[in-house]
Amino acid sequence: MENNKQPNIVFIMSDDHAAHAMSCYGSKINTTPNLDRIADEGMRFDNCFCTNSICAPSRATILTGLYNHENGVKTLGDNFDSRQPTIQRILGENGYQTALIGKWHLGHGGHHDPADFDYWNIFPGQGDYHDPVMIEIGEEKKVKGYATDLVTDISIDWIKNRDVNRPFMLMCHHKAPHRPWDPDERHAHLYEDVDIPEPETFHDDYSGKASAAKEATMRIDRDLRVRDVKAEPPEGLSQKELKSWYYQRYIKDYLRCVASVDYNVGRILYYLDEAGLTEDTIIVYTSDQGFFLGDHGWYDKRFMYEESLRMPFIIRYPRAIKAGSVTKDFALNVDFPETFLDYAGIEIPSHMQGRSLRPVLEGKTPEDWQTSMYYRYWEHLSVEHKVGAHYGIRTHKYKLIYYYGEALGNADAIDEQRTPEWELFDLDKDPYEMCNVYNDPNYAEKIEVLKKELYRLKAEVRDYE
Ligand code: CA
Repeated sequence: MENNKQPNIVFIMSDDHAAHAMSCYGSKINTTPNLDRIADEGMRFDNCFCTNSICAPSRATILTGLYNHENGVKTLGDNFDSRQPTIQRILGENGYQTALIGKWHLGHGGHHDPADFDYWNIFPGQGDYHDPVMIEIGEEKKVKGYATDLVTDISIDWIKNRDVNRPFMLMCHHKAPHRPWDPDERHAHLYEDVDIPEPETFHDDYSGKASAAKEATMRIDRDLRVRDVKAEPPEGLSQKELKSWYYQRYIKDYLRCVASVDYNVGRILYYLDEAGLTEDTIIVYTSDQGFFLGDHGWYDKRFMYEESLRMPFIIRYPRAIKAGSVTKDFALNVDFPETFLDYAGIEIPSHMQGRSLRPVLEGKTPEDWQTSMYYRYWEHLSVEHKVGAHYGIRTHKYKLIYYYGEALGNADAIDEQRTPEWELFDLDKDPYEMCNVYNDPNYAEKIEVLKKELYRLKAEVRDYE
């Protein structure tokens, strides 16, 4: 029964689902009972961060255990080279059966297709919510149904039809709740008669931030389209009323898409129970990055600010993880593949740049555990949403961000230059990041220490540009 020692891995990742839209993370705007069950029966990470808050780069990091300058996917325009070593290849070489179902978004055709999975069935590009086209191991077909239901149906079928004598890893990747936020029938009328509360920072005027914040085009009241909110804005509203109207239209559809993800995660949990797989399976729920839910007056992500930097990360494995545990220890998306290899008892390749979360999961965080993390966003002003390129460091107490003002290391971008700017946030005093204290002399010494650590981390991850 040697194989029973290797756990199955069910990795469920949605797209753009912010932690603050999950009740286990204290959401003020919705409830997610099925997702909460994973947290209740396992561990919740309160400080899990992505190293570049955008879809394709985060996905490439999770597959490779490498930062984006090392895996070649720095921007949405970079396709993934599937010839490089990945978690699925290593698991496959060590007896696992593997599948990826749903969102891939790393390019397709030739060596951009998913590789080294026994089975794959993906949406081309962003995919559609209703009756999507799917590509099943290279064969394209239109499928009837709603994306989140379909990804779940195909996932459960794949588990049912697997070789029961070998462990498996399933990557179940939802399109939802990505723009344009089209709900399914089952959840289309949720929240119809209620007003969703607006976030604390809804009316941020960006005066306490670097000028990149003001320049970004992701404002609720200005940059959402009719396609996003599925209605023409009513006439005769004040600017403030219009902003609230846009927010309600946007957030309700977003939360309806989340409700369908929650419902479908419940179906997977139920199936694992019924099939007697719960004890032997590591199940993870996460999202490729966070999202602004009206926070700072925005939708979308990209910035190193908390709402977009933080990933939900909840994980259950009854054999090793104590139910109901919570940690504030740092975890990064680059740590995920090493964690799975560790639990599978497979040697972790030395080129991988993360660290297995296993000791944290088992309540034995080492003394030298990471207390600072490196972030870099390479896209620049020429792409949608006009968020200037930046890198930075977050510790438990501070966040230091540098907008370097050009499209360095992003060959496809039109290089619009800006004056470089720094931001420092004191996260204890200012958790919503409303007040840049970089120029406050009281922080001068702290800034020197943080800069030193920032450049140490940058060199450690081999980002030399
Ligand atoms: Ca995403």
